[in-house]
Amino acid sequence: MAERRCIVARSCVPGLLSSLRGLMSGAITVTFHGVRGSTPCDEPHSAGIGGNTSCVVIEAEDQTPIILDLGTGLRRYGMSLLKSGNASDFRGSVLLSHLHWDHVQGLPFFEPLHDSTSMLDIYGPEQPEGSLCEVFAGFMRPPFFPIRPEGLAGTVAFHDVGNGEFQVGRARVRSRWVRHIGPTLGFRIEIDGVAVAYVPDHGQGCVEGTPDDHVPNDVVELCRDVDLLIHDAQHTANEFEAKWHWGHCTPEYAVNVASKSSVRRLALFHHDPCHDDVAVATIEREARDLAATTGLSEVFAACEGMVVTIGRPAATGGR
Ligand SMILES: [Zn+2]
Ligand SMILES: [Zn+2]
Repeated sequence: MAERRCIVARSCVPGLLSSLRGLMSGAITVTFHGVRGSTPCDEPHSAGIGGNTSCVVIEAEDQTPIILDLGTGLRRYGMSLLKSGNASDFRGSVLLSHLHWDHVQGLPFFEPLHDSTSMLDIYGPEQPEGSLCEVFAGFMRPPFFPIRPEGLAGTVAFHDVGNGEFQVGRARVRSRWVRHIGPTLGFRIEIDGVAVAYVPDHGQGCVEGTPDDHVPNDVVELCRDVDLLIHDAQHTANEFEAKWHWGHCTPEYAVNVASKSSVRRLALFHHDPCHDDVAVATIEREARDLAATTGLSEVFAACEGMVVTIGRPAATGGR
């Protein structure tokens, strides 16, 4: 198998993304537009990590963007498209993990959907109460919000998903139910020989009778050998004692999932809104120390504006 390289950029300097794209052929880029869990936050001491909630975008050549969740970071992504002149006639797909506020609030503020020529396909979890479209429209409507999804200028199409495999353009997607509060999916996305797994909300202790270090087979299969795993790491071990029933996990558990699944890199994600930059740096350092004992090569705390490029080295000459 060809060697893969990963570049992690800590800040989203204008032009950085295009320069990273030019560095490798056949690479995919993963851009973090929102990395917080539960609710947005804007305290000055948290600005380095960023305050927007879950939204990550995967881009590759000849592939429309794949958006992971619709948190408040989606607005940030939409503004970047507007600035680059790409907000009109937008085509993209969303892999929606679940319907909690921190994963859906950004939809009406996504600039491309203010244009009638744009289209967005949303693949999200089947709901016991009705179709995904009906349930989504149940909270995006007056009096909770001024408009319904059909009130957006652009076209939004909902697709109900359970355990399954499906194609999004050139990308192969696998979806699996994961342990959280309410129907929640994790995703594996494979494109150009690169694999990314996204498990933003994952409760290690929210199913009675399973030990805290248990990793379900479905999750191991979802994450096995991926180049990048983006995983819940919301609570410190001390916080988890009181909040085990919130449906989230510790950084130690995230390292455990990554280790059991032989992933190449782990991005700690869904940071608690009460964790400032110093707290997240401490979590990152401790997770790296633990990972070093398991053979996991790279662990980092995702932050807003971070761009990760994964791909094969560009050809240097010859055929
Ligand atoms: Zn969440
Ligand atoms: Zn959640």
